[in-house]
Amino acid sequence: MTGAKTYGPATALSTARDQEAGDQGTRVQGAGDEPTGDRARSWRGRAGAVLSRRLPPRLRRSLLFLPPLLVLLLAVFAADWAEVQSGLRSDAVARERLTLYRETILRELEKYRHLPYIVARDPRAVGVLSDPGQAPSANRFLKELAATTGAAALYVMNEDGLTVAASNFDTAGSFVGRNYSFRPYFQEARDGEEGRFFAVGATTGEPGFFFARSTPAGAPARGVVVVKVDMERLETNWRHGGETVIVTDVHGVVFLGTRDDWRYSSLAPLQDMVVAAIRSDRQYGNARLASLQQGPLAQTRLVIGGTAWRQARLKVGILDWTIHYFTPMSEVRAPRGVVWAGAGALVLLYAIWLLVLRSRRLGRVTAGLRQDAATLRDLNRRLVEEIDERRRVERELRDTQADLARASRLAAVGEMSAAVAHELNQPLAALGMFVSGARLYQQRGETAAVTENLDEIDALRHRMATLTQELKRFARPGESRIETVDLRDCLKTSAKLVRPRVEETGVALQLHLPSRPMTANTAPLRVEQVLVNLLRNAIDACQGVAAPVVEARARIEEGRAVIEILDNGEGIPDTLRERIFEPFFTTKPAATGLGLGLAISARIVEDLGGSLATRARRAGGACFVLSLPLAAQGGDEGSEEDARRLDAVDAQ
Ligand code: ADP
Repeated sequence: MTGAKTYGPATALSTARDQEAGDQGTRVQGAGDEPTGDRARSWRGRAGAVLSRRLPPRLRRSLLFLPPLLVLLLAVFAADWAEVQSGLRSDAVARERLTLYRETILRELEKYRHLPYIVARDPRAVGVLSDPGQAPSANRFLKELAATTGAAALYVMNEDGLTVAASNFDTAGSFVGRNYSFRPYFQEARDGEEGRFFAVGATTGEPGFFFARSTPAGAPARGVVVVKVDMERLETNWRHGGETVIVTDVHGVVFLGTRDDWRYSSLAPLQDMVVAAIRSDRQYGNARLASLQQGPLAQTRLVIGGTAWRQARLKVGILDWTIHYFTPMSEVRAPRGVVWAGAGALVLLYAIWLLVLRSRRLGRVTAGLRQDAATLRDLNRRLVEEIDERRRVERELRDTQADLARASRLAAVGEMSAAVAHELNQPLAALGMFVSGARLYQQRGETAAVTENLDEIDALRHRMATLTQELKRFARPGESRIETVDLRDCLKTSAKLVRPRVEETGVALQLHLPSRPMTANTAPLRVEQVLVNLLRNAIDACQGVAAPVVEARARIEEGRAVIEILDNGEGIPDTLRERIFEPFFTTKPAATGLGLGLAISARIVEDLGGSLATRARRAGGACFVLSLPLAAQGGDEGSEEDARRLDAVDAQ
């Protein structure tokens, strides 16, 4: 049974070992081969795993941060590079656009540039200079010409700067009668040069470009012809492009462009002298001429109104004008954002990849743990089964022991029946004789002899009654309640019980008890029954000895109580040593001994888990050794043992 039980777990273990051995076997076999395909991959994986396992875990964890750090470091350089590239690209675009914008300005102005030159030679226009009566016809002529060419205004001034005829003679803002001698273009033209000027109209308040020419030498009178070109159309066209383009004059003042809010402001702070000069020309009316930013004019990057710009510039080729093309830095820097976003995405992907790997590894570990748990559960189940099986077998064993005990008791009863029959037959036969004798003596009238016979009959009855009483005790040994007792107390009680007999016989009874308690879970009354029996036998045995001494020595030995009852009597002959425990064996006279005491005692002691034996004393006399189990220190073991013993006792 036990063999079969240990077989289960042992098989499970050996199976696991076999499997492991099998795995190793496969590895060894593959070691000599060239790694190919999946195997090669798994080999590389294993090599990597072995390498990474050799590194300390802290370093391994730190290495995980290396790839994202490298990516971020690269991103720093890549972002700078991307911005530089983007700047170069935007510069190239700006150059292209600037050329285009410059062309539109030049083309627009070129259309009107020669108009004053031609008009100054036309008597229909300049005739008014010498003959004021031609003013109406000159006005009409100029009006027609302006309408045809698309000029904003066309007018003739005399040599004092007074306007004598104008295309807008019939409008509220007519130039006729106004003096523009303060305008630089007038002075330039009067000096024989081509007068060129950009200004806000002193009368109309509308900005425009002025071309001026003087009347040629030999003309009837000196004068200056001016055409005003409207630049608004140009601006409107530019605005459609959605770009930021401005034109600044020689001082850096914005006078044209797509940003109305920058108009008549300077790109760099202006000197007071310059401001005064502009004011005296009334070039930009009463504009404040504030600076848009504080830095010098010639820089690539500017911050205007909180927005950073990258500017590209180109000289227009007229009046020292510069055309500026602005690209928002946010646009230039956009690729930097793309690079960072890409780097971020890479780091994120890396993190996700790590997480996936980790969750896979955790999954594998969990699966392994689950398998281990299943194996443990299996082992546990087998153990529980084994324990149940053991309990069942123990129960069976106890039942069998009880059966055996019953059977042996029955056998003993059988043996005893013969002995009892023999024991009873003798007194019965004697009884018959005494009854016949009594009848005879009665017939004879010998009353005294009858009485004597009746006494004998009574003595025989008494002996038979004693015999049956002892037999009853043997069959049912009495109280078997298990208690926790100090065996020293049992010994003291037993000594008290035999005290009358001790006094009667004059035997010296000595008790030797240990100082430590001899605690046992046992049936005290039955222990006392045994001790009384042993003490009585000892007292009986030293009758006729000069100084009869009976000793009871108790001690604790290897967790058991050992009680020796010694006497200095005649002792037990070796030939009888085996037989004294048999029922009805006695060496005492028929009236005193039945020979059941030791047989009953031995049975009781056996039931209590102890032993009873006898040994010879060198000094003479007998020694009976009673050994009983003591209560276990921890408690549990002892109580289980006691319970089992109690079961056995009850079974009898
Ligand atoms: P009983 O006392 O009725 O004879 P027991 O079973 O108690 O029955 O004892 C059996 C026999 O064992 C006794 O008759 C005696 O011969 C022997 N015996 C017992 N105790 C002693 C002893 N202390 N010394 C010598 N013989 C003993």
